[in-house]
Amino acid sequence: MGFNPFWEIREEEKMKCHKCNMEMMYTKDIEFNGYSIDSWKCGCGEIYFNPEQAQKVLLLNKLKKEEFKVKLGKIRSNLILRLPKDVESALNLRKGEKVILKVQDHGLKVSII
Ligand SMILES: [Zn+2]
Repeated sequence: MGFNPFWEIREEEKMKCHKCNMEMMYTKDIEFNGYSIDSWKCGCGEIYFNPEQAQKVLLLNKLKKEEFKVKLGKIRSNLILRLPKDVESALNLRKGEKVILKVQDHGLKVSII
């Protein structure tokens, strides 16, 4: 839905349908809770979502409803902002990655490039 997930696409894995025992097709871009993720699809209509990606979507949707109170740290003369672990993994953030900061009236907006 116009949102490009950040996770890496994993190698295709063979999967059999539990309903009809046919081999399922690995498909990308199946809608799941507002995001498109990979999944296995069967001719009978059965769909299995890539569990890792589905889990991230669920985590992301949960985090979007939350607010985080985090403490600013300081390294030498720079203030640093520590991100909660869940935010890191839901957004696939890594050390060295660049983000965009935008100052707003009462705060700061951080966007992923
Ligand atoms: Zn089936």
